[in-house]
Amino acid sequence: MAHDSRVPAIHQTHMARLSSRESAVSANMRNKLERAAAKVMKNAHAPYSNFHVGAAILLTNGQIFSGCNVENASYGMTNCAERTAIFSAVAELGPKIEIQAVAVTNDHGVACSPCGACRQVIYEFGPDATVFFQGASGPKQAHITELLPEGFRLQ
Ligand SMILES: [Zn+2]
Repeated sequence: MAHDSRVPAIHQTHMARLSSRESAVSANMRNKLERAAAKVMKNAHAPYSNFHVGAAILLTNGQIFSGCNVENASYGMTNCAERTAIFSAVAELGPKIEIQAVAVTNDHGVACSPCGACRQVIYEFGPDATVFFQGASGPKQAHITELLPEGFRLQ
């Protein structure tokens, strides 16, 4: 398909880049991330929703950080698993981290993609990140710009 002569060259390049993005994270690494997310999910503080979420991020330096949702009696102060993982990485390594991939899982086995706030935070540190999550009809992966078109950046 990528070499179909009916497809203009510029589109072929775009498609090749998309497919290389998709293969940037191996199946092994995806499993590893999903296991890390499932493990940290057990630490969630979710007495109000009873919805436990775990997230793991893979940095371009190969390091993995994980996080769970941390709810609060005031509800609005709740922090999602994805942002917990990212903030932990920044706290440990500083702001120059680059996210290559994110995996999110939940204990209800239901569709659960990162919320809008988390998409913006993922984009801040991973404008080329791949996101793995439970979609409506099973496991799904998406590029962060598919989840967050026109993401906001200052630079
Ligand atoms: Zn979120």
